[in-house]
Amino acid sequence: MSIIFIVKKFFVAIMLTIYVVNDTIFKLMDLKRDIDCFLLDLDGTVYFGDRLIDGAKDGIERMKKSKRVIFLTNNSSATRDHYVKKLTGMGIDVTEDDVYTSANATRDWLKTNRPNAKLYIVASPEVQAEFEEAGLYTRSDKPDTVLLTFDKTLDYQKLVKSCDLIKKGAFYIATHPDMTCPVDGGDLPDIGSFMLLIEGTTGKRPDLICGKPYGIMAECIAKMTGVPLSRTAMIGDRLSTDMLFAVNNGIRSVLTLTGETSREDHLKSGMKVDKIIDSIAEWDK
Ligand SMILES: [Mg+2]
Repeated sequence: MSIIFIVKKFFVAIMLTIYVVNDTIFKLMDLKRDIDCFLLDLDGTVYFGDRLIDGAKDGIERMKKSKRVIFLTNNSSATRDHYVKKLTGMGIDVTEDDVYTSANATRDWLKTNRPNAKLYIVASPEVQAEFEEAGLYTRSDKPDTVLLTFDKTLDYQKLVKSCDLIKKGAFYIATHPDMTCPVDGGDLPDIGSFMLLIEGTTGKRPDLICGKPYGIMAECIAKMTGVPLSRTAMIGDRLSTDMLFAVNNGIRSVLTLTGETSREDHLKSGMKVDKIIDSIAEWDK
């Protein structure tokens, strides 16, 4: 028996072992058994605008029977109360404790790391109030921090003031990076587009971004739920935020095909997610 033959046999055995181990790990990934907490993206995963995705209500009800479920959205244009009302109106039983937005992650980061920051906040009055209720200052005459949210009441004066402060060296925080917000029938300009406008004027990008895919959101979630991130799964429709958030932070990644990503998009991306489902309605099928 030649040495080449033995090396070839050895190589094949190693490859086979790697394949079997990988296959075993893949098979071991069982959402019903291995996950204690599900993070559910909203836009494109649970609903489109005001239209609930078919079967989402039943799928979420089955999930809630034995799992912690957090509705996790980068959309910082509204408060938790808004999302509770919206989801409840769609027939999904939910309280404020079950909803977490990128604005909430930003608020929690600020409370821990910069509790005395003087914020110039670009936000709707309701979202601004949520920060104030947490004891953060949003009405200083001399702000040292610009906080950008997905502000649907954005106007020219807010842009001028933000750019002026950023140019003068204010710490610049954005709640999340999304360029667009999907709604039924199209996309809305989201905070990433605002950031480009500010960058065009000031030459600066945010010093800190809190929402998906960044780690601050993951740290806040783990602290809030007490569930290890390795037993937490993110179900979402966007590779650049939801799935990257999971992959970057040791969270199980579950791509749903109801939103902006198709199987082809996933293949082309080269990103390896843990599981692909047709819809949130099918998570346990
Ligand atoms: Mg989405």
